Amino acid sequence: MAFVFVHLIIGWLFGRGYEVISGTDIGYYGWLFLLAGAVLPDIDLLADWIFGWCAHRKFTHSLLFAGLMIGLSYFILKIINYSNLLEIENQMMLAVILCVGISIHILTDTAYGIGVPLLWPSKWYVSLFKGINYAPVIGGLTGEMDYMKTIIKRIVFDMGLGALWFFYLLLTNKIVF
Ligand SMILES: [Zn+2]
Repeated sequence: MAFVFVHLIIGWLFGRGYEVISGTDIGYYGWLFLLAGAVLPDIDLLADWIFGWCAHRKFTHSLLFAGLMIGLSYFILKIINYSNLLEIENQMMLAVILCVGISIHILTDTAYGIGVPLLWPSKWYVSLFKGINYAPVIGGLTGEMDYMKTIIKRIVFDMGLGALWFFYLLLTNKIVF
């Protein structure tokens, strides 16, 4: 399981790479949607936590979710624009960027643990290292003690990465207080 900073940093590297190669600027909202997409699939952990659903790495880690979110975010952006709450242009572009962020997250998760159910509601999980498995056990927040110890180590690693990233951005004046 990769955690929030791993996903944010991979999304950020992807965005920076795109900007450098294409010579364009993703822009403020572009970054917002890319990074939001990069963490959005793990919102299912909240359902695990709050409702005890064992929902982790199901619907939100599928191509169906990525596709539906293009339509949903486009619809929401249109409403925001029509109601004059905010003036956000290029709604379709932003919806696609959100989908790209979600896809980066899902692809990253294929390299962690048991993989992802790309074709959910099909129960086949695709993993880079463990191949394709049918309905594997997903730890989520309901795993055994040993599993939890491994998870805690990964969370600490994730926090370290997050702190390094934060200080890098601070030192390069990309975050100003
Ligand atoms: Zn995930």
